[in-house]
Amino acid sequence: MESVRFWVKPIINRCYDAVISAQGNGELAQEKFRAILLCIQGKHRFDQDPSFKLINECGHTSSYNPEYYIKTKRIIDRLEEQIFTSKNIEDIASVSWILQTSPCESINALAWRYAPKDYFYVRYLVF
Ligand SMILES: [Zn+2]
Repeated sequence: MESVRFWVKPIINRCYDAVISAQGNGELAQEKFRAILLCIQGKHRFDQDPSFKLINECGHTSSYNPEYYIKTKRIIDRLEEQIFTSKNIEDIASVSWILQTSPCESINALAWRYAPKDYFYVRYLVF
């Protein structure tokens, strides 16, 4: 029995890895993202696929248990429809590789950019 559940965490981790390890190289992030779908099917080398120009294999060190690989086309098609969409592939190229770890940090990052402390204290706290 094929389990997509097994792949949920690896897919999420590999998405983060695709963005972070690409370090701003959008095309590399896209290829790493697309590689996830092949990897879960047990295809770890892409040197025969001309659409991969920057990587030719998965690059992960540990191997997955072969019984977890997804062979059912219906499941792969569904993953393509829901996760590995052309829109997501396009978007992952522009995700910042300096990921914020929480909404709080995102708010702080905005505050630092648009409302720095010196501006706030000078403008609102008049002594
Ligand atoms: Zn792989």
